[in-house]
This record gives sequence, C-alpha cells and structure tokens, in this order.
Amino acid sequence: MHRRTCLGCLAGLSSFGAAGRARAAAPAVTPDVATRNAAVLAGLAEPGPLLRRWQWIVVHHTAAEHATLPGIDNYHRKHFGDPLGAEYHFVINNGKKDRANRPIGLVDIARWRHQEPAWHLFKPHNAPDSIAICLVGNFETRGLPAEMLASLTDLTRALMKLCEIPRERVSTHRVVDEKMTQCPGKLFPRDAFLQSL
Ligand SMILES: [Zn+2]
Repeated sequence: MHRRTCLGCLAGLSSFGAAGRARAAAPAVTPDVATRNAAVLAGLAEPGPLLRRWQWIVVHHTAAEHATLPGIDNYHRKHFGDPLGAEYHFVINNGKKDRANRPIGLVDIARWRHQEPAWHLFKPHNAPDSIAICLVGNFETRGLPAEMLASLTDLTRALMKLCEIPRERVSTHRVVDEKMTQCPGKLFPRDAFLQSL
C-alpha cells in the first residue's frame, strides 16, 4: 500500500498512530520559475527565531503524477487529522496538474511555514528533526525531469546552508526507512543528486 503513493507511502503511517553536476547543463527551469524559486529560497529564513534546529533532509515522491500541494494538504489533513495539512515541508511540481500556476520545477512552501515536524517516515529515529521535500510524480516508472532535479538541488543546497546540514544527512525515504518503501522511486538519481550537493 505505501508503495502506491507517497501520498501513499504516508498512508501506511496511520498504523503508527500519527497524527553540480546534475545542474551543470543549461538552466533547467524557465525564467519565470527561476524567479519564483529564487523568492522562495530568499525567504527560507523568514521564520527567524522560530526556525527549528533541523538535522536532516529527506526526499520523497508522491508516486502520483497528478498532484499539487492543495490536494496533498487535504489528503493528509483527512488522513492524519493534522490541521497543518501536508506532511512535507516543500513540494516540487512536475507541471502536470494546474500547470498555469504550478509549472514544472516550481517549489511550493508547505509545512515549512509552520516550522513543525512532519510525519513522513516510518522510522523517524533514523533521521530525526528532518525536513521533508516531496517531488510530484512517480519516479518508480519514469526518470526525474531536469527541471525538477535542478530545483531540488537548489532547494537542498539552500537548506543545507541555512540549517548547517552536511551532505551526510541528506537522504531519501527508502534509505532512511530501510527499504520499507520504494519512495522516491528506483529511477530517482540518488547518487548523482547527492554528489551534486
Ligand atoms: Zn516517501
């Protein structure tokens, strides 16, 4: 079940009672997305004194191609009974749903604005105080578009710098949860991504 969606990978969590190199090519996102993402990155420190002591960064996928933050918000609010909604701190769009407002590579700020932990792992002790970044799409069945990888890399680097998180504490859901899930999919370029940080 939790393999179907990381919407779905999280579905399995209810049983826990919870409440570089890759970007060296031409600019991957459109100028509009680059501008909007730059504003997101520039505002990462806005929580100011409320900024938590984040220790890890963990990458997920939705495993569903047609998803956006509002839908994830609703799904997680209902599923987990969590009024804060999405159990991810950031969502990176694939441009398939609500393309006009959420083009490929656009970063949406989700739970980050609340500076609250997310229930995104089966074994949170493996990555305590972790920031959850979710890629929209199913990368078990297709490769990660360059636009999304570029945005993920930029966002991860900015978070590493802001929160002083070393590369050794950047990982993927499958590895953190010791293969209990395929998330973010076998075609997610884990090694290249980590090496690019
Ligand atoms: Zn996941």
